[in-house]
Amino acid sequence: MTQLELARGGIISPQMALVAQHEGVEAEAIRQGIAGGTIVIPANTNHSNLAPCGIGQGIRTKVNANIGTSSDFGNIDTELEKLRVAIDSGADTVMDLSTSGDISAIRRGIIASSSIPVGTVPIYQAGIKAIEEYGAIVKMTTDELFTVIEEHARDGVDFITVHCGVTQSAIARLKRQGRVADVVSRGGAFLIGWIVYNERENPLYEYYDRLLEIARQYDVTLSLGDGMRPGSLADATDRAQVEELLVIGELVQRAQQAGVQVMVEGPGHLPLNQIEANVRLEKAICKGAPFYVLGPLVTDVAAGYDHITGAIGGAIAAAAGADFLCYVTPAEHLSLPDPDDVKQGVIASRIAAHAADIAKGVKGAEQWDMKMSVARKKLDWGEQARLSLDPERSGQIHGKHASAGAACSMCGEYCAMALVEEFLGISTPRC
Ligand code: SF4
Repeated sequence: MTQLELARGGIISPQMALVAQHEGVEAEAIRQGIAGGTIVIPANTNHSNLAPCGIGQGIRTKVNANIGTSSDFGNIDTELEKLRVAIDSGADTVMDLSTSGDISAIRRGIIASSSIPVGTVPIYQAGIKAIEEYGAIVKMTTDELFTVIEEHARDGVDFITVHCGVTQSAIARLKRQGRVADVVSRGGAFLIGWIVYNERENPLYEYYDRLLEIARQYDVTLSLGDGMRPGSLADATDRAQVEELLVIGELVQRAQQAGVQVMVEGPGHLPLNQIEANVRLEKAICKGAPFYVLGPLVTDVAAGYDHITGAIGGAIAAAAGADFLCYVTPAEHLSLPDPDDVKQGVIASRIAAHAADIAKGVKGAEQWDMKMSVARKKLDWGEQARLSLDPERSGQIHGKHASAGAACSMCGEYCAMALVEEFLGISTPRC
């Protein structure tokens, strides 16, 4: 049985109990969230070394790190190193987006080495196989696509991105709309080419029940991908994007009826003033299903710093109710990320997620900051480093220019906190 079926049957699974323990909430609250479709636990029954992680309403905002090879760069050793860096930096999940090398071996290696949930986008491998065999993605058969999906599920992939909402109708709307950046989703682009060439409906939409059967068998969580996501601020929240979301809303309902856990992916490039509306729209149309946003990126002009662009958007989205942030690295739009880019991206998204958790009142979030404030007031540098999102960097920077006294070298002997303590002695921390 899937976590959703167990939850609906009133059963608290070991995975639910562990998630509740990590989140510091009652296991019954997790069960109810899963039963109601507002929380998912991506936990494939074949992922043996997995520490389960909950994603959704009322619990900590989670961060995903994308890793994987491209046609220009990468091998299994580099990807395993990126996995290690992502986990060490605090990522909650990883997605293997490999598109070159032995894709199956890389995926299996990542799953075997990963204690955190692993996601994939099976259409990448299916499309690449079709290119290798027939010279074109458009020649891929429906059976070949589902064979790859089943292989990913059998290998232990915990969640898969499936662009089921890229329908013939959405493509027609996209054409009538006219966009600056057209389509920036790789999976979406593969499917659009296939649909237009074959003059047939998206197989992931037409044979959605077949997809649900596979997902249910292995308890793979569906992540309904946003193939129509805007890749330019100018294209944000347009008719093609919203049409896809309407279709996804129906597919969320069908997945849940079939006992399959499901979440929804969202933009993309969005101006600051459209982020909250996008989150509200998804939550209303998809009945509170967990929302997994890709950034969002709040400007198009920060190449080289898009981990910051994404963190700004991610903080606003998560504070408005998004549950899961896909990181953006400094390499976004420029190159395949290396392990250092992975670290920068994870930390930036974790800052966004935590800032939002304070605003959302997530259990333990505010207390973490309170502990840091007390350590700062005490000039306790060891504790400050320990409480930092990146203890290593915190310690390194503090040690770079040592102070003669107990304070840091920013103000040195004129440390405001030390001076006030000396003259007023009013430090009475509340924890
Ligand atoms: S020296 Fe200045 S920056 Fe450093 S701890 Fe004291 S008040 Fe803070």
